Amino acid sequence: MRGLAMKTAVVTGGASGIGRAVAERLRSDGFRVAVIDLTPTDDGFGHVADVTDRAQVDAAVSAIREALGPILVLVNAAGVEGFKKFSNISFQEWSKVIDVNLNGSYWMAQACGRLMQPGSSIVNISSVLALTTAGLPQAAYSASKAGLIGLTRDLANQWTGRKGIRVNAIAPGFFPTEMSDQYEAGYLDSMRSRMLIPRVGRLEECAATLVWLVSPAAGYVTGQTIVVDGGVSIT
Ligand code: NAD
Repeated sequence: MRGLAMKTAVVTGGASGIGRAVAERLRSDGFRVAVIDLTPTDDGFGHVADVTDRAQVDAAVSAIREALGPILVLVNAAGVEGFKKFSNISFQEWSKVIDVNLNGSYWMAQACGRLMQPGSSIVNISSVLALTTAGLPQAAYSASKAGLIGLTRDLANQWTGRKGIRVNAIAPGFFPTEMSDQYEAGYLDSMRSRMLIPRVGRLEECAATLVWLVSPAAGYVTGQTIVVDGGVSIT
């Protein structure tokens, strides 16, 4: 029990899609995984909280620390899309995307960073849309996800040396989730010519990259964004 308590992971957005796949993989690798999401999970360690709300984040993280011990891994996967033309997007809609995708990671890193011990690590789930355009009106989403890459780099610069916390990001390409279900019919097919590996990603492929990033095998990797996109971003 004591050994397991030393391997606690917190996954935001872990009730669905990429976050859920990551939570499942971490669990099967021996982590005790606490999920923070707007949607309840039935795994016993689920916390219903909004990552944009500092009080809810702080309460959830304290409860997790109390129940499961030191937090070794934080995965910021909670996210929303905002694929609306720039001329039509209201400031409220723009702010919602930035608030969840970027500010939510800020609150989580603040809350967990205070408690994490040397050897811990943080992974922010960015997106290939931070790095390239892809036929979508994506200004708010891209700005939020590019912001996460900047946050990742600078947090690594501030915390890896001083606190011993590695900070990295993953930029996934196209993966089948509730978020990608919202694309217009035919959109993913239209992207196939840019997939050098000619299919959408498998959730377990994203989770496998994540478990490598948080493992000792990636112990010399910090401040990096690992792109898992079948080649979309280079075509
Ligand atoms: P998803 O919609 O399946 O999952 C997102 C989860 O985040 C949901 O469970 C949702 O309830 C939760 N969430 C949303 N707002 C929240 C909030 N304020 N507080 C707490 N939880 C909240 O989507 P997904 O595709 O699995 O996306 C996961 C992450 O991966 C997102 O950050 C997304 O931007 C990123 N991403 C996804 C893809 C893809 O192809 N699916 C590609 C690149 C990046």
